[in-house]
Amino acid sequence: MTTPIFYKKFFFLLTLFITCSNLFSQKKFTIVLDAGHGGSDIGANRYYSDIGAVQEKNVTLGVVLKLGRMLEKNKDYKVIYTRKIDEYPSLTYRTDLANRSKADLFISVHVNSSPSKSATAQGTETFVQGPNQNKANLDVAKAENDVIFLDEKDKENFASYNPNSPESLIALKIQQSKYLEASLIIGGLVEENFVKKDKRLSRGVKQENLHVLRMNAMPSILIETGFVNNYDDAHYISTEEGQQAIAESIFNAITSYKKMIDRNVKEPEPEKPVEQPLKNDFRILLMSTPTKYNDDDPALKGLKYILPIKENGAYKYYYGTTNYASVRDTNLKTAKDAGFRNAISISFVPNQALGIGYYTIEVYTGKDKLDSKSVILKSLPDIVRTKENGMFYYTNGKYKTLEDAVKAQKELEGKGITNTVIEKKLK
Ligand SMILES: [Zn+2]
Repeated sequence: MTTPIFYKKFFFLLTLFITCSNLFSQKKFTIVLDAGHGGSDIGANRYYSDIGAVQEKNVTLGVVLKLGRMLEKNKDYKVIYTRKIDEYPSLTYRTDLANRSKADLFISVHVNSSPSKSATAQGTETFVQGPNQNKANLDVAKAENDVIFLDEKDKENFASYNPNSPESLIALKIQQSKYLEASLIIGGLVEENFVKKDKRLSRGVKQENLHVLRMNAMPSILIETGFVNNYDDAHYISTEEGQQAIAESIFNAITSYKKMIDRNVKEPEPEKPVEQPLKNDFRILLMSTPTKYNDDDPALKGLKYILPIKENGAYKYYYGTTNYASVRDTNLKTAKDAGFRNAISISFVPNQALGIGYYTIEVYTGKDKLDSKSVILKSLPDIVRTKENGMFYYTNGKYKTLEDAVKAQKELEGKGITNTVIEKKLK
């Protein structure tokens, strides 16, 4: 049993839960109960001459219904079942349901089986989603990204989250490690109850990559309640008394877990002064290069909200705009995590008119002149063409402030003219 270390880890969770505290104090504590397998998917099974067939799908439903009945007596809990009868909901349905319900806890109940005919393997074990994502998992996570919702806080922190960028998966990993800590705690409590209350043999809490856990955006555990091919386990889990004992152990674990959360939530939060905006705006300078990159170029490492500004022939790529110090620091960290190790924050005086020179918008560059019938020439009759080192540059408009240039750039986007660059001309 490894439970004690989970209690130590709990203090790390404190801050996480405080950020979610309003959720916990306002709404019911929602638990999704998932009876593994069902319908034509029997799950692990074995026939015994004295008790007949022991089928995983029946054991899991028996345990879940007993557990649900106990939880439903307490008005603080809301119970959602992935199934209440002998049917097979898909794994995606199960995780979708949990995510859509914004559940606080996901508990999947299963029955183990080992390869040998009469198992020497015996006892219970609980799985949590492991922290190490291999490539296949990340691919699945990307493909099924619509079921993963970053919570509000994460959304703020990772405004530039792009599911197709490997760098953006940093955010995903951070989110999952957050639930891992909580999953380890509830898993430890379940196994502890099996040992202390039911005198079962515990194989501990383990980390594993399991679909039904992987896609969940909440603390989630998968409990293996015993081995179907172990004579003693099979007889235990197939009886009403055995299932009742298992359900009670899980119930006790949930109750203890909820108490731990409530205790931490009710501790008064230290008064945090409201952050005051700064005088200047801050953008994160990612790099300065003679190369022009379009929005989705891999060189930008999946970051969005990038503003390139051309100055003296070099393109400077700026990420994010804010006048809050905390957001600026988060943006800088996001840029560095994405791979821009030398990123720095640059301060801009808002609406500052240039003393000399002006801003213009570089609409097009190329070795060839634009065709006179092109959309750009047709919609921008006053566009200016220059030639430098064998390249044609087309710029449009003169603006005194960066903000005016950004506005004009947005208007061009509205006309379908994209991937333009604001250029600072100091004449
Ligand atoms: Zn199973």
